[in-house]
Amino acid sequence: MQLYDDVRYLKGIGEARARLLEKLDIRTVYDLISFFPRAYEDRSVIRDLSEIAEGETACVRALVVTTPVLSRIRKGLSLTRFRIADDSGSAEVTFFNQPYVKNRLKVGGRYSFYGRFQRFGSKLSLQNPTFESSLEEGKTTGRIVPVYRLTAGISQNVLIKSIRQGLDTCLEELQDLLPKETIQRYGLPDIRRAYLGIHMPSDMAEAMRARERLVFEELFVLACALGSMKNQRKNVAGHVIPASRLEDFTGRLPFALTGAQTRAVRESLSDMSSGRAMNRLVQGDVGSGKTMVAAACIWAVCRSGFQAAFMAPTELLADQHFRTFSNLLEPMGIRVVLLKSSMTAKAKRDAVERLALGEADLAVGTHALLSEGVEFPLLALAVTDEQHRFGVGQRSALAAKTNSPHILVMSATPIPRTLALILYGDLDVSIIDELPPGRQKVDTYAVEESMRPRIQKFIARLVEEGRQVYVVCPMIEEDEEGIMDLRSASEVYEQLRTEVFPQYRLGLLHGKMKTAEKEAVMSAFVSGEIQILVSTTVVEVGVDVPNAALMVVENADRFGLSQLHQLRGSVGRGQHKSYCVLFKGKGGGVSAERLDALVKESDGFRISEEDLRLRGPGDFFGSRQHGLPTLHIADLAASLDVLKEAQAEAARLLAADPQLKKHPALQRRVESIFQNAEAG
Ligand code: ADP
Ligand code: MG
Repeated sequence: MQLYDDVRYLKGIGEARARLLEKLDIRTVYDLISFFPRAYEDRSVIRDLSEIAEGETACVRALVVTTPVLSRIRKGLSLTRFRIADDSGSAEVTFFNQPYVKNRLKVGGRYSFYGRFQRFGSKLSLQNPTFESSLEEGKTTGRIVPVYRLTAGISQNVLIKSIRQGLDTCLEELQDLLPKETIQRYGLPDIRRAYLGIHMPSDMAEAMRARERLVFEELFVLACALGSMKNQRKNVAGHVIPASRLEDFTGRLPFALTGAQTRAVRESLSDMSSGRAMNRLVQGDVGSGKTMVAAACIWAVCRSGFQAAFMAPTELLADQHFRTFSNLLEPMGIRVVLLKSSMTAKAKRDAVERLALGEADLAVGTHALLSEGVEFPLLALAVTDEQHRFGVGQRSALAAKTNSPHILVMSATPIPRTLALILYGDLDVSIIDELPPGRQKVDTYAVEESMRPRIQKFIARLVEEGRQVYVVCPMIEEDEEGIMDLRSASEVYEQLRTEVFPQYRLGLLHGKMKTAEKEAVMSAFVSGEIQILVSTTVVEVGVDVPNAALMVVENADRFGLSQLHQLRGSVGRGQHKSYCVLFKGKGGGVSAERLDALVKESDGFRISEEDLRLRGPGDFFGSRQHGLPTLHIADLAASLDVLKEAQAEAARLLAADPQLKKHPALQRRVESIFQNAEAG
């Protein structure tokens, strides 16, 4: 058996279980032993029966003192009952629907039992415990036992046994990806000890040390991958865009750029004149004016005789940007075309032809820009908007179209600054931390259900004044059990349309609609035809509806703080005073404290930091959202300090060995992680 062999060759696995394990992303022995426990049960302490309290989970060593009796209560329900005793006391044990237990236990035999006890006065009982003969104790009782994430048909025991088998046969093959110096500097266990320690720790401290080491390694490999990607791009020659007088551009804008916008533009222009290809992320809150940064870059590129491409995640956003850029740039002599799938074949052909002939300078569009046959002979700049919607792979797909154009990506995903710098480790980052002047704060209220009648009056007042309103709900369909009392989008829509606001024009938008339907509804809202839009979170972040002045969020406790902040960014984009109303819902996810943070704070970065602090490890964000490879063990939010250390170590190593020639195992891993990310 070797490390990268298929798991189905392990004893006790076989074809059928191997297929089930695939659901846990386990294919090879290596995957299997890299499937780390999600928790541990401490069964190492043997307790006296007499001292166990109601509700305690504990491990005891006891004698079976009565013959196990199997009784069939009714079809589908059998009980096996007997008593156990140790020096201190006794307890009754019951197994439900496990008739075979009867034959595995003998009166007078000594066993270890582990499970949750119930106590009523002096009566102690135990249901469905894990047990084993005292003779073979140490497999599942009398020690610290790992707890793995499961899938149907695969039990803890199967995982424990096969992981042990994998470790027994392949441990020696594991290679340390961390350089020796790093291991020494941080006093980490070596890789083999770490694998043993995480699956079979002799105490919790060992499990923790093993976990730390593996987290460190995972983040180190990620940092190496991002670092070498950045290195590679650093050395790619880029079209030289001569420095232009920025005033020639800004002088024609209806407003002055903010300090932060100017800084981002200068950084980008300086990248593009350097002779090397630019790779820059512009990160800024919703409404911070990222589009203008892109426009300035596009202007500089096109006036030097090159072409630019601007890719948006949806047709609607593409349309919006096409209008913005046409209005702004056409008067400066820049010819703009739109390219999206839903255009007629002829319109598409025209656009493609103009690009190929160099008769168009800027193409604004969707994924359609990446289609085969779309050529940009003079492409020098590729911009991607709302980059978090695209994976790391797609990040460079536009670049692959031609000879390494400059790359500018824009994202409003508010993530803590510290994290952004690392997450986007392969990009240079400009942060726009300032909103255009005169932007009014969106007044935000977290309200109880009792406020609903007043909020409905408020909605009516705004609509009468000519404003538009968003109502966002967490789910589409009513949840089956009804216990959460979630107000689903379709339910809210029906109620508002028929009972509350029959006199207004309402629209419904949810994720199960076809793209074309969604876009039709969204553009009806953009044009003002729909006055109240009820939707799930599919409502577009970044769509400019300056007339929208109120965002109502149902069951706000169901959303992440940053997500709520992004939703709120859909209003307050015009000259109208705007509001955001958060219905608190009935408990659940977000605590009152969290909603308060949103009421008080309007800076997306600070909100994201608060979100990170309050939510802690876990679901702060899925790595998938950022197009990064899935992390097995590290949690980016929780491991921030380790992340910094790992990054410093990676930088140190890459400085000494940029190609990782002296670290072949690491180099192979680094190469594989992005292949996997792109496949996923
Ligand atoms: P986002 O960063 O969310 O993409 P946009 O680029 O769409 O933000 O800008 C939001 C709005 O702010 C647009 O209507 C835009 O015209 C306006 N805007 C951008 N920059 C400025 C500025 N410096 N002064 C005033 N308004 C601005
Ligand atoms: Mg935008």
